[in-house]
Amino acid sequence: MSLLHVNTSQKPAYVDLHIHSTASDGTLSPKEIIETAEKAGLRAIAIADHDTVEGSVEALQYQDSSSVEILSAIEISASVDYGAMHILGYLMRLDDTAFRRAVGVVQEGRVNRNRQIITRLQDLGFDISYDEVSGASGGGQIGRPHFAQVLVNKGFVQNIDEAFIKFLRKGRPAYVERYRLTPVDAMQTILQAGGVPVLAHPFTLNAKTEGDLDRIVAGLKQAGLKGLEVYYPAHGPVRTAQYESLAHRHELLITGGSDFHGALKPEIHMGFGRGDLRIPYRLVEELKQSASSSKYSD
Ligand code: AMP
Ligand code: ZN
Ligand code: FE
Ligand code: FE
Repeated sequence: MSLLHVNTSQKPAYVDLHIHSTASDGTLSPKEIIETAEKAGLRAIAIADHDTVEGSVEALQYQDSSSVEILSAIEISASVDYGAMHILGYLMRLDDTAFRRAVGVVQEGRVNRNRQIITRLQDLGFDISYDEVSGASGGGQIGRPHFAQVLVNKGFVQNIDEAFIKFLRKGRPAYVERYRLTPVDAMQTILQAGGVPVLAHPFTLNAKTEGDLDRIVAGLKQAGLKGLEVYYPAHGPVRTAQYESLAHRHELLITGGSDFHGALKPEIHMGFGRGDLRIPYRLVEELKQSASSSKYSD
């Protein structure tokens, strides 16, 4: 083939569909995230904050002045009695009243839980206040990583991991349950707002066998699941291949993202994870097709 036939405009375009901002427990603002994505040469991003769309709403205000395409997104923690189930939602109408109401109820549940976590930590003898944790969150929604950060800052633990292992994770003395949507309600909330529900990082379900995971995914698909987050820094080649075939078997879309949290997970780079993550733009086109063909979207 002659060099004349090489089309230089066809350089690969990569995306990152799983980014956290200061609206939840990321350390970069939506504006800083867009600037970072531009520098990284990404073609599209989605700010998928935990249980809030404030990050997406703010980012979309910069859409006209940015070369990076911005997709509305959220990451909802669903209630399951095994592992952790996170449902990503993409391309919802963010002004949908029922969607915003459901997310608002989840946020109230967080506020209640956060107050109880403070009481638990104080009962454990730590000098820690709600204002300090609120300060660590930068004014956005407070999550457990912010409690961990304050415990680190005040020298009560060495690092964030230690704070979770000793106090904040399930089964530890400062862990408090909070109100969560069921997996079905989380998916239906996303669907009825015209969005596309996707199962995030399937390994956190802690399914014991591939057969168990297959059955969980089949059940979710029946209840409206449209996609699987296959490309993710912690997956590695074996899990990535397993999840690709799982997605194909259940006719689910494939998505991917770095779960970028800024300084809270400094080893993770936007778009490229630990350096080897590559998420092609084609997946965004498939997401958009799914959203526009959804029976709920009109
Ligand atoms: P929350 O949604 O407030 O319950 O907090 C959940 C967040 O805590 C998620 O973003 C996780 O990434 C983070 N997290 C959970 N377990 C750990 C851990 N062991 N070490 C560090 N971060 C964690
Ligand atoms: Zn997070
Ligand atoms: Fe998650
Ligand atoms: Fe996440």
